[in-house]
Amino acid sequence: MIQTAQNHLKSVFGYDEFRPQQEEIVENVLSKKDSIVLMPTGGGKSICFQIPALCFEGTALVISPLISLMKDQVEALKSNGVSAAFFNSSQSDFEKQQIINQAQEGTLKLLYMAPETLLNVLNTWLTRVEVSMVAIDEAHCVSMWGHDFRPEYTQLSQLRDYWSEVPYIALTATADKATRKEIKSKLGLVDPNVFLTSFDRPNISLEVRGNLPKKDKRKDVLDFIQSRQGESGIIYCLSRRETEEWSEFLLENGIPASHYHAGLTSEERAEVQEDFINDRVPIVTATIAFGMGIDKSNVRWIIHNNLPKNIEGYYQEIGRAGRDGLPSQALLYYNMRDVKLLADFAQDSPHKDVLVEKLNRMLQFAESPTCRRKTLLSYFGETLIKDCGNCDVCENPPAFISGSLIAQKALSGIMRTNEKIGMNLLIQVLRGSKSFEVYDKGFNKLKTYGVGADLSAKEWQHYLTQLLNQGVVEIAYDENFNLKVTSFGKRILFDGQKLMLSSYVEQSNKKDVSKSKRKSKRGTSDEQLFERLRNLRLQMAKKEKVPAYIVFSDATLKDMVEKKPILSTELTSVSGVGHQKMIKYGEEFAKCIKDFLDQNPKKKSTFDVTLDYLNEGFSVSETALARDIQETTIFSHIAKLYTDNKLNDINKYFSSEELSSVEKAIQKLGETEGLKPIFEELNGEVPYGVIRLCISYFSKNELAV
Ligand code: ADP
Ligand code: ZN
Repeated sequence: MIQTAQNHLKSVFGYDEFRPQQEEIVENVLSKKDSIVLMPTGGGKSICFQIPALCFEGTALVISPLISLMKDQVEALKSNGVSAAFFNSSQSDFEKQQIINQAQEGTLKLLYMAPETLLNVLNTWLTRVEVSMVAIDEAHCVSMWGHDFRPEYTQLSQLRDYWSEVPYIALTATADKATRKEIKSKLGLVDPNVFLTSFDRPNISLEVRGNLPKKDKRKDVLDFIQSRQGESGIIYCLSRRETEEWSEFLLENGIPASHYHAGLTSEERAEVQEDFINDRVPIVTATIAFGMGIDKSNVRWIIHNNLPKNIEGYYQEIGRAGRDGLPSQALLYYNMRDVKLLADFAQDSPHKDVLVEKLNRMLQFAESPTCRRKTLLSYFGETLIKDCGNCDVCENPPAFISGSLIAQKALSGIMRTNEKIGMNLLIQVLRGSKSFEVYDKGFNKLKTYGVGADLSAKEWQHYLTQLLNQGVVEIAYDENFNLKVTSFGKRILFDGQKLMLSSYVEQSNKKDVSKSKRKSKRGTSDEQLFERLRNLRLQMAKKEKVPAYIVFSDATLKDMVEKKPILSTELTSVSGVGHQKMIKYGEEFAKCIKDFLDQNPKKKSTFDVTLDYLNEGFSVSETALARDIQETTIFSHIAKLYTDNKLNDINKYFSSEELSSVEKAIQKLGETEGLKPIFEELNGEVPYGVIRLCISYFSKNELAV
């Protein structure tokens, strides 16, 4: 059975091997056991139920909460030649009847439905369908506590009454433990095997840039985007206004972008989504509402204009990048204003404490001087043994300095105001600012006024945030965000407790992770070929009225550029090209590659040119003449071609007498420096080139001489 699965993987989806865990999951389903699959976005969950569905007789039911997701998956399956459909109330009666017929005849391999639809048809036509298995996608929707709660999901356990013998598989990208438990109990899974893959998304580089003035941030982002022309990305903002400002700013700079937020009509929102999915508008500036249910695999970067509310949200949002596994970037900007704003929001909630705690963890992530990925994964209960090497901290490892003096200045500053000072004002006081507020409050008369003038405001911000993260001070959210000295802080102030802080590095002195990871390939011939293939893909997609990635993913195009197949049949060696797509697109893509290679012939190495002449039957001297180079050089080419296994019969370039006299000379002389002693030993009767060839011959055939 697993062999059949393997065959389907290659012939239908065009993949050579399963990813880690996929094979075990498929095996588990094939042996009719229940499964819970926890895999990050882009991890390849769909394959886990689609392949078993193809192996089984009958129709697999797939439950999914969003129509857009169902449509995408069905479209993708069909493009691979799989008989699949989704069923929902928006379809015409005729369409519905066709699907029902197919299902009842047993020709439909996968049938997608929203839970409410499924519950509606349970007792009607569905009773006459042979159901092979049940897959419940986005299974975290059973959780009352999550933000995607769908009440209908909690009724799915009754499916067991209808199909008790078939395997059930629940899949989700939500990591937390409470949700896992709920999935198991609420879906009525029987003794499920739980498959937990790592939540790491190593292809996404992580970077945080803090405390940039608005103007600098704009320039920064513009640079970032301009060095990634045509690439798709999302800028997440806290407020609707900011999404509009950003899209305007980008448009003013000639960069196509749309904004998206809950204030738009549903038609407007649908249009933005469609344009984004179909690569018509590469950039969307959005509030967090954007992205749910978008299955676009080639989003190359995510920018957060503000600090996200919590790490779950951050992880989910950056996860929308790089689903195709290609290198992608996540860039987070934040400043203390965001923190204050979010903490303000939290005050109105009955779960205020939890929200503030989560916000603090998010802030800690942003401020952390340890590997970002380590911090992120540890939040989800995973430990990364080594630093990731693909985040800004790994690129710019911090230096630690003794922070006791800095801390004492700040702490006594706070104490002297009776802990009635916020962070910004404290910085002004420490730096001896002549601002109105400082004078108004009489803080210019404090003993600590001006004691920190040696550090810039940015430096103070950097150190104060660390004091916050290390628990030296805390923010009283309910008291005007004033700073309070903790008991740990008091030990530093009064008992000589020591403290280390990571030293401040000017943003402009930092290595840019995303840049250093990008090899500039633009303009190289491979890059040009990629562009051509992308264009061809777009044409095909338009013709068939499907999103471009349904034709081929970016990852597949990259592999095409790598392998450069010029026959349509060779296209199946490319990852992501199954049988159906080879037939459908093979000809055109192979031709595109061939034309490109014809127009951009690869410069041949000088050795290969010599080889061409020799293969044409030219002698050594004729080749030398034709190429206008020395005969000895041609001999050295032959030696190299022979060593590289490009040319085998070198015996024709020397006689057996020459070979044996060279052999004798070598035996007599032993190890020699260069060829000259051998040449002289043989009285110049054997040319240098021939000696060289003989030596290549000996060494390749490992003849002891
Ligand atoms: P998820 O549902 O977990 O977010 P998908 O099922 O959409 O992820 O898969 C993400 C991407 O990985 C898709 O482009 C998919 O075709 C690709 N993929 C899945 N399994 C494999 C595999 N074994 N080899 C190569 N690519 C794969
Ligand atoms: Zn790292």
